[in-house]
Amino acid sequence: MHHDVHWMQLDSRGQGDGMQYALVEGVPQEATSGANGICGQCGAPAVAKCGPKVMHHWAHAGRKNCDPWWENETEWHSAWKNLFPSQCREVSHTAPTGEVHRADIKSPGGLYIEVQHSAMTDAERSSREEFYKNLVWIVDARKFASSFSLHHILPDPSLEWAQDLAWVRVSRPPSSHSANGMYFKFSLIAKDKAEWPEGNMHEVFSLHHIMGQVEASYIGHHQYHWRRPHTTWLSATCPVYLDFGTERMMRLETYPVGNIPCVRLISKSRLIADLLSKTSAGDVCL
Ligand SMILES: [Zn+2]
Repeated sequence: MHHDVHWMQLDSRGQGDGMQYALVEGVPQEATSGANGICGQCGAPAVAKCGPKVMHHWAHAGRKNCDPWWENETEWHSAWKNLFPSQCREVSHTAPTGEVHRADIKSPGGLYIEVQHSAMTDAERSSREEFYKNLVWIVDARKFASSFSLHHILPDPSLEWAQDLAWVRVSRPPSSHSANGMYFKFSLIAKDKAEWPEGNMHEVFSLHHIMGQVEASYIGHHQYHWRRPHTTWLSATCPVYLDFGTERMMRLETYPVGNIPCVRLISKSRLIADLLSKTSAGDVCL
């Protein structure tokens, strides 16, 4: 599915410009037709762009935004920003080195939230993680929805019985057996190896037979398959939430039993509530 056609480009001229706020007489204000302001970060003149076919925004009077990390704002960006109080949006942060960047959102509790629509290199991703430290990523996943498939549920990995299950990693399309949930048992593998050290055959089990037990202990974990993944998100050190445009957000994780890639399903309303109330990125939706 392709949704890009519904998104409005802010400014065909300016690459990576477009801000929700500029200072007018020292006060952050949204763009209104004919208004003049200054960029709160660099102090350069900002011009209100309020054409009939663009989302109202500010742009630097020169060609470029002063922040090389700034991303041209889409409706998707502003929808996320608008979930937070206005004083939380487009907040500048200065590192001890003097480097300054403007975060999309700084929560009331001090979390930095970057809402990312465009693809990103590993270098960019890790430099932002290093810069903001207490950072949560919200990634626009709508453009890769067709190459991403959600697979079977996994039990709460903190449970003792769940820690004996060695899940077969999903590596094929949804119709395959692994996608329906197959597992070995670590205890039986150890027993087999003790009895027959050269052997490599172990009994395999189907999720189907323990579905009730797994469902009862389900806290949101699933295996998934991502064709042509955007690997930088898999290497992120700060939490990454994929937004497929529904109420169901997916956090990229590693399932600790067997260290297989998994996602954790989290409702968007719960995520927003936690982003508004928590002070540490690691405490969000625990
Ligand atoms: Zn500026």
